[in-house]
Amino acid sequence: MAVAFQRKKPHINVGTIGHVDHGKTTLTAAITKVQAEKGFANFLEYGAIDKAPEERKRGITISSAHIEYETENRHYSHVDCPGHADYIKNMITGAANMDGAIIVVAASDGQMPQTREHLLLARQVGVQKIVVFVNKVDAVEDPEMLELVEMEMRELLSTYGFEGDETPIIMGSALCALEGRRPELGVEKINELLKAVDTWIPEPVRDLDKPFLMSVEEVFSIQGRGTVASGRVERGVLKKDSDVELVGKGPTPIKSKITDIETFKKSCDESRAGDNSGLLLRGVKREDVKRGMVITKPGTVTAHKKFLVSMYVLTKEEGGRHTGFHENYRPQIYIRTAGESPSLKTTLLENKSGLLTSRIDEAAAFHWPEGTADPSKMIMPGDNVEMVCDINNPLALEPGQRFNVREGGR
Ligand code: GDP
Ligand code: MG
Repeated sequence: MAVAFQRKKPHINVGTIGHVDHGKTTLTAAITKVQAEKGFANFLEYGAIDKAPEERKRGITISSAHIEYETENRHYSHVDCPGHADYIKNMITGAANMDGAIIVVAASDGQMPQTREHLLLARQVGVQKIVVFVNKVDAVEDPEMLELVEMEMRELLSTYGFEGDETPIIMGSALCALEGRRPELGVEKINELLKAVDTWIPEPVRDLDKPFLMSVEEVFSIQGRGTVASGRVERGVLKKDSDVELVGKGPTPIKSKITDIETFKKSCDESRAGDNSGLLLRGVKREDVKRGMVITKPGTVTAHKKFLVSMYVLTKEEGGRHTGFHENYRPQIYIRTAGESPSLKTTLLENKSGLLTSRIDEAAAFHWPEGTADPSKMIMPGDNVEMVCDINNPLALEPGQRFNVREGGR
């Protein structure tokens, strides 16, 4: 039955992660089946979600499926990827933007290398809450095995910075749910899982509710009025006469007050996330404001010259480097509007990732974090690494800030 949804429920982005063959796609199909019976989804068969085999045959690489379903309280968009590499790319580039994730672990195998890698990835991209589905319980005789898997998963979650002791763990069988067998392991466990997802994964703070931030693209002075900085508002709402700080480039933030706001060339009382606005800054000289600075609610953002990054290195096939590199690598880094030129912006925005918006004047330098066992280790195309990045002038940065690095146009 096709259902016309009214989008009145809060929307949450989730996804299945975990080791290959542990049952992510089967679980995704099972969720749509169970919710379809309540009129909350369209049932999608396994093959409709994981189109990988046939699409690969035709030479098309697919990287993820976005599935929709509802519960009583929420509307979900759910991402399921066919392979490990697809998770890395989709999660790091933000294409698979998850507010929370369901990690699937087969009771018959327990945690495996990709279980751990996906937890690390989830942490790297800022996923706060995880729900565990221990799958294939139908294929396990020994209840001690289940206890062991649960214990190990709690430990693993804690290791990766999640709340291991409190995280809901549901044990069941996606296949039983999909095939309508053994409801005590099938449909009932899917219902339990969705209840856990509904309650454990919080509704994300919307951009409008976050503290105001606009990255400065252009600066000009208006005769008799003062300095105006313009750009696209990334988040929050700013009212006329608010106090602000200009953060970045210099060692300390510059304090100011917004005495007028122009959005789409009209004077108005407020500026909101998504607007292109010009902000008239009281008591600030034109030469003090630089592209790449951010204008924020005071005290909400700080500037940094050294930070830990998670970086996926594109392969040659993806348009990246052909060879590896060592630490002390110095490519150019792109964060928000820093150093951007209008022509550069055009080319960058055409990039599929949609994340490239800017350039910092100086090169960045990448190093292995302190205590790395083998600092002479090479970083190869296709690697997902954590490194320390240094830049010359401080920039407004916060955990989860996206960036891109380029080198010779790659
Ligand atoms: P993915 O790679 O994590 O997406 O795993 P799939 O969903 O493709 O499942 C891998 C294999 O495990 C398939 O052959 C499924 O039929 C099987 N499978 C999935 N869930 C269960 C389950 O609950 N019990 C059993 N016995 N097998 C399952
Ligand atoms: Mg799959």
